[in-house]
Amino acid sequence: MFNGESKIGHPYWWEQARPTVTSDELPARCDVLVIGAGYTGLSAAIAAQACGARVVVVEAGVPGEGASSRNGGMFGAHPRLSWDKLAALFGPDTADALFAEAGPALSWATRFIATEGIDCDFQTTGRIQLAWSGSHHAAQRRLATTIQTKSDVDVALLDRAGISADIVTDRYAGALVFPDHGALHPAKYHRGMMRAVKRRGVPLVSHARVEALTRAGTRFEVDTAKGRILADKVVLATNGYTTRPFGWHMKRVFPLPSYMIATQSLPPDMLAALAPGRRMMVETRARHSYFRLSPDGTRLLFGGRASMRDLPLAQAAARLRSTMAEIWPSLKDVTLSHAWTGNTGYSFAHMPHVGVQDGLCFAMGFSGSGTVMAPYLGAKAGYLAVGDVRADTAYARTHLPRHVLHLFDRPHFLTAADLWYRYWVDRAENRQARRDRARATQKQH
Ligand SMILES: Cc1cc2nc3c(=O)[nH]c(=O)nc-3n(C[C@H](O)[C@H](O)[C@H](O)COP(=O)(O)OP(=O)(O)OC[C@H]3O[C@@H](n4cnc5c(N)ncnc54)[C@H](O)[C@@H]3O)c2cc1C
Repeated sequence: MFNGESKIGHPYWWEQARPTVTSDELPARCDVLVIGAGYTGLSAAIAAQACGARVVVVEAGVPGEGASSRNGGMFGAHPRLSWDKLAALFGPDTADALFAEAGPALSWATRFIATEGIDCDFQTTGRIQLAWSGSHHAAQRRLATTIQTKSDVDVALLDRAGISADIVTDRYAGALVFPDHGALHPAKYHRGMMRAVKRRGVPLVSHARVEALTRAGTRFEVDTAKGRILADKVVLATNGYTTRPFGWHMKRVFPLPSYMIATQSLPPDMLAALAPGRRMMVETRARHSYFRLSPDGTRLLFGGRASMRDLPLAQAAARLRSTMAEIWPSLKDVTLSHAWTGNTGYSFAHMPHVGVQDGLCFAMGFSGSGTVMAPYLGAKAGYLAVGDVRADTAYARTHLPRHVLHLFDRPHFLTAADLWYRYWVDRAENRQARRDRARATQKQH
């Protein structure tokens, strides 16, 4: 599976843009302290600074080493849940507003890349969501109607035969295409945001984990690994890496690992025969595989829920490679150049939220979909901290529910959830897909 040059634990993206330590010192005070230097924190810093605030960003480790330099680089925004589920959770008006905000969020992030001059291999490739079974495709049909009536996002439906221009496999029952979604190099995207923050003279302090935070009148005394800072306002932007002292957030947003592999460089005609559409590809299965070509078009990058808990990377990579071979059997023995993992910050509503808790502004719970939503809602949290009207968003009207099974700091329930998905949901979905494929073959004859 690997050869002597394979890098295990090292994201493919770091070959071109490895996160780097900053040398800024921690000031004694600031107007807005941002905790966490991923997409959310950097965007919050830019927004608050634009309103005239003296901003400081503190990062527990090396800026970008969280999810923001490790993800799939699939660029898009639409609610993860159906309108009915959103309406049941947050009410019909908020469900409408969440659908309506998908288009503006995508335009905002696209403009942000252009105005900040971020060089991140950005391309409007489109995204194809592949239906694993006939019932998933029926749900896509309903979703397409909702999107068309409740938002200005373009979508198109493809049937089983129609997907062959995008992907050559017999696995899928149809697809939903988002032509305006895109692709980028996530680590270059993060590096571009770091440069935008530095251009504005905002101190960004590495290895300054926030260890304690106390109210001092209307202000906050914040103890970090690099010393104390006094801040008028605080923005928490720690998503899937949130730890104590932020217990309230830990109970509502939990770390769910996502794993990725990169194949060695493959012949162009082989890749063209597997994925001629060059779009971003995601599945509807609960196993949630997502895959794409690398920006230079030379290899396949394949991600998914190899496990819902920590798994040795070699084992996770083997699971991902075998899932990839279910889709493209010719890749069954392909050599992998990289395997890595990162934490998504999952909320029990599968949706992010922007809010204020105990005086702390925050944006988190991106639930695996943050290349657009993290900087977009990070900016909202930055505006919220300084009282700017641009903070307005439907995501302030959602909430982060708790779950009866998540009682402790660590998400122990994921061990049981992993078994449930592996031995029940995955098998049921596969049985249904097999039946659908058999029916489709019968129809052809
Ligand atoms: C493998 C993988 C694939 C993904 N693929 C996609 C994709 O294709 N498309 C998409 O839209 N999204 C994807 N995502 C999700 C996306 O990467 C995230 O939603 C996004 O990066 C979240 O950004 P963030 O700034 O909120 O969090 P992060 O980038 O995780 O940053 C949080 C930071 O907070 C810091 N921190 C934590 N605690 C403290 C503390 N006490 N003091 C100071 N700093 C602290 C951490 O060190 C970390 O750097 C993927 C995620 C993963 C892991």
